[in-house]
This record gives sequence, structure tokens and C-alpha cells, in this order.
Amino acid sequence: VTGLLAASAAVGAAASNAVQALLDWVYPPHCYHCEQPVAGRMPQFLCPACSSLLARRRLAAPLCAVCGVPLTGGPTAGGRCITCLSQRRYFSVARAFVPYVAPVTSLMRSYKFAGDYFVGPTLLRTMLEDRWLPDAIQVPAAVVPIPLHPRRVRERGYDQALLLARVVAAHLSRPVCCRVLQRTRYTNQQSLLPTRRRRDNVRGAFRVRTPQRVRDSSVLLVDDVMTTGATAEECAKVLLRAGSGPVQVLTLARTVPRAISGDADLTAPPAP
Ligand SMILES: [Zn+2]
Ligand SMILES: [Zn+2]
Repeated sequence: VTGLLAASAAVGAAASNAVQALLDWVYPPHCYHCEQPVAGRMPQFLCPACSSLLARRRLAAPLCAVCGVPLTGGPTAGGRCITCLSQRRYFSVARAFVPYVAPVTSLMRSYKFAGDYFVGPTLLRTMLEDRWLPDAIQVPAAVVPIPLHPRRVRERGYDQALLLARVVAAHLSRPVCCRVLQRTRYTNQQSLLPTRRRRDNVRGAFRVRTPQRVRDSSVLLVDDVMTTGATAEECAKVLLRAGSGPVQVLTLARTVPRAISGDADLTAPPAP
């Protein structure tokens, strides 16, 4: 019986290899960023050149101790950026893996707007396996995705923050609590608004549905891209008011000042 099972598994594997080879022939794999053909199998989203560009992009010190934005000037008080020096942040720390510049921009556009739901989780898993998790992130009691409005989930067909939160939660061996926070208002796309209006746009847009799930527990909020941090802050604020412990934020990418990115491809951040 074991021999038979092994034989049928081998036949199955051969068949799936043949199907894959056929698919590769009909739709040759290409780099999501530069669109050059990519040798080998999907998921291999980036060609070697774009992969090494991504590796060079990894966010590293000096970063703002609180919000994680790269610091350009000289040393500041407590290693904080101007924004974190001048205003209260509700989250204890926010970190991202890479800046929202090429080649991540192409990957995130495919992830959010082209229905390629596997791109974000696969990219995130790869970065976690390569030990890119920022040191500042402490293992939380619970992982909470920044929620989308149900209408946005219907429009997109999937919840991009939830898929990423599941990857982070599995990596940290912590539960993902996807029903704790609720987005109660269908907000305008943050990316279409000037910075000062983003805070107003998300004010009152979230509520904590099950405070008992997070009471006195530290929370790690997960999202795809952080821009000004207004959305993450609003979520952190309602969680703290509901009695949660400290709230950290982890995003796959974050926007950075153009002077730092040095990238002409720095585009408007994606919609929530
Ligand atoms: Zn490429
Ligand atoms: Zn900061």
C-alpha cells in the first residue's frame, strides 16, 4: 500500500509539474516591477536585479524611535522625528520593512488593485524568514489587522491587512484577532487627501467591538502601507480607550520623505 501511495504521489507531482510547465509556457513568469522574464517558478515576483534592489531598500537605522521614519538630520531629542517630538502618538512604536518606493510599489499595486492576493503574504513571509522583522517590535499578546470597511472588502474580494496579519501572527505564534476592531465608516481614500485632512478623515471611523479580547493585552496592529500614521493612530487610540495594553504598529511598507527615497518612482500611496 505504501508503495502504491508513493507511486500515485509521484504521478500527481509529475502531473502538477507538467501543468506548471504548460502554464509557464503560455504565461511566462515576469518580474512584477520591471516586467523582465523571470526564470523559474512563481511565486517569484521579482527578477534578481529587482530582488537585490528590494534588499538594499530594507529600512535600517537611524529611524525615529517612535514612528520609524528614517531620520535625515542630526541627532534629535530621544531619536524622534519632528512629528513625534511635536505631537502625542497613541501607538508605542511603528515599524515597516521597506519604504513605499520601487520595487515595492509595483508589488503592492498588484496586491491591492489587480487581485493578486498572494503577493503581499508571500513577500511578507519571505522577509520574515530572512529575519527582517524590525528589532523594535516586541511579541504582542494579540495581532490585530487594521480593518477595512466591509464595502471595501466586497469591492476588493479580500482584506489585504487581514492576510498580512495572519502571516505575522503565525510567525510570532500569536492569535490574530480580526473581529476586535471594526471600521464603522466608509472613509474617503486617505491617499487622495492632504496630510492635515487625513486625521479628520479617520476620526471616529473605528470602534472596539470586543473590548474584553484586548483588555490589558498588548496589541500589534498590522497593515500594508503606513503613510502619515493617522489611521494606525486612530486605531491605537480606540484600543487604548477600550483598556488595551500598549499598541505597536507593523506595516509591510511605509512612505518616506522624497529626499530619503531618492526615487523618482515615489508615487502616491495606495488607497486603504
Ligand atoms: Zn525586475
Ligand atoms: Zn516619528
